[in-house]
Amino acid sequence: MSGTTTTGVDGVGAAPLVVLAGIERIFHMGETRVHALKGIDLTIRRGEFVAIWGPSGSGKSTMLNIIGLIDRPDRGRMIFDGRDVSTLDDNALSDYRNQMIGFVFQNFNLIPVLTAVENVMLPLQVAGVPPARARQRALETLEWTALRDFADFNTERLSGGQRQRVAISRALVTNPRLVIADEPTANLESATSSELIDLMQGINSQTGVTFVFSTHDPRLLARVPRHLGLHDGVIRDDRHKPADAPSEGGS
Ligand code: ADP
Ligand code: MG
Repeated sequence: MSGTTTTGVDGVGAAPLVVLAGIERIFHMGETRVHALKGIDLTIRRGEFVAIWGPSGSGKSTMLNIIGLIDRPDRGRMIFDGRDVSTLDDNALSDYRNQMIGFVFQNFNLIPVLTAVENVMLPLQVAGVPPARARQRALETLEWTALRDFADFNTERLSGGQRQRVAISRALVTNPRLVIADEPTANLESATSSELIDLMQGINSQTGVTFVFSTHDPRLLARVPRHLGLHDGVIRDDRHKPADAPSEGGS
């Protein structure tokens, strides 16, 4: 890699990872037309930790699917890591996605008959990494989510919070540029939810991997450095907070 970019706090000064310009998405269901995204302009820089929040139906999943290269917009331009992704055909797009992006889902999407480490190894095995190396790397990412001791547990024996941490490990195991988490805490209790967001933020600051997650719960935003408020397919506000500002009693 050419060391031309610096990852600053909150991505300030870092190179753009995702640029959306005039993005629109319209779904057709018979006679009905749903304008799910109505012109999104947004830049996410390398190393940022971003929350997209808004009520159900506001377009969070639609936007994450576009940022995550799962879905394509009807209008507008999208640049991912300097590359105009509209020029890629479906196969090239899915290869690029597998290389660049890890996903975390609200219902965990783990394979229940496999152990934690086997679930985490899967993306590497799909990519042709030999099993011993895949296992080693998977154990490393389970270390990041404090699950090393549970590596050989069947995921059915794990709690909701632990399952989601397995899913985060799996999203990270391929060393992606971006992790997308669509309502990762929707099936967790509130204390566990805050812990999960803190964990993701810790991994973000240690590894520099960019995170974008969605939630409909504004209580989870307290320590998140950047919030995008989405309403009816439009970004209503885009708030940056200083990271870990020494507010009171700082030395
Ligand atoms: P959120 O994730 O914030 O709940 P979504 O992005 O899922 O919102 O949905 C935004 C709007 O687009 C909603 O009105 C939803 O019904 C509609 N929508 C989403 N996906 C589809 C689809 N595949 N077909 C038709 N309408 C859809
Ligand atoms: Mg959604």
